[in-house]
Amino acid sequence: QKRRIDSKHRPPKAAETLTGQAKSGLVMARFGKQADVMDMDNPEGRATLRCHIRANLQDVVTGDRITWQQTEGGKGVIVSVSPRDTLMSRPDNRGQLRPVAANVTQIAIVIAPEPRAHQNLVDRYLVAVEHFRISPILVINKCDFAAEDQAHLTTLIALYTTLQYPVYEVSAKLGVNLETLLAALNHQSTVFVGQSGVGKSSLVNLICPAAEATVGDLSQIAKGRHTTTAAALYHLDTGGNLIDSPGIREFGLWHLEPYQIADGFTEFRPYLGQCKFRNCLHLDEPGCALIEACDNSVLIPSRLYSYQQIVRDLQSTGR
Ligand code: GDP
Ligand code: ZN
Repeated sequence: QKRRIDSKHRPPKAAETLTGQAKSGLVMARFGKQADVMDMDNPEGRATLRCHIRANLQDVVTGDRITWQQTEGGKGVIVSVSPRDTLMSRPDNRGQLRPVAANVTQIAIVIAPEPRAHQNLVDRYLVAVEHFRISPILVINKCDFAAEDQAHLTTLIALYTTLQYPVYEVSAKLGVNLETLLAALNHQSTVFVGQSGVGKSSLVNLICPAAEATVGDLSQIAKGRHTTTAAALYHLDTGGNLIDSPGIREFGLWHLEPYQIADGFTEFRPYLGQCKFRNCLHLDEPGCALIEACDNSVLIPSRLYSYQQIVRDLQSTGR
């Protein structure tokens, strides 16, 4: 009895005194120890509120489905995080892998005639995306370029179509095929990636003007906090979500082992484990099932070369 009275006299910690029911929410953006959360139980429509993040839930990221509760001060607190379907991560300045975005369902790899697209670069992006178990699509931007400047893309388009990756040829400049691309984003949570200059900003700007307006702000936040992980989620008018930030648009294969690289070439999967040597790197070993499949024209040789190039690069950078 006495203890209860004592605790009554102690001033309550405002951030932790919860009122009302737990509600479901979606993390739209993360700002240090706080996050903007979309109230998913609000029958009136979409409303965003700033929530505190409990110390034990510090890896909450954009795209997380969470439950939150109102506090006495009229703010919110995130009280739990639902299991994630997917998680994109990248290393911070110290080389430590940090989560960047949760529940991304689709990654749009943007390529263009200028800067010139190379198969190996596309394959690197594909491996990274496949590693996250997220579905890739290829967006070939700048299809307004003169035919001769796009000729080298024909082989790539044929290759990835054969491998059953969806390919969209668009022009952000002229608005060509944007409706088709928008339809592909519907019911998905999409991230756009690709090398600088291919037109990601231009595409994102067209698809979701709100994102373009905040990208500058987010990069300021990122600079201030010495992190590249700030990302924001936007609902598209046409349906689906876009997750975007400067830091998320370009990523690499920092942490993968050769067997994981091979797994990212999805058509190799039936052959993995079939080589003579258990630890075969598929470079020049005898009895390699992948080399054999290429010799028999069952696998596409340029994809095996591309895999080998990635593994040799990783080895030569001394990882
Ligand atoms: P990002 O670095 O990938 O974000 O690329 P940007 O969106 O900044 O675009 C790089 C350059 O390509 C800019 O000069 C754009 O105006 C130009 N660009 C973007 N999309 C197209 C397009 O569809 N056609 C042409 N011709 N130029 C484009
Ligand atoms: Zn092999």
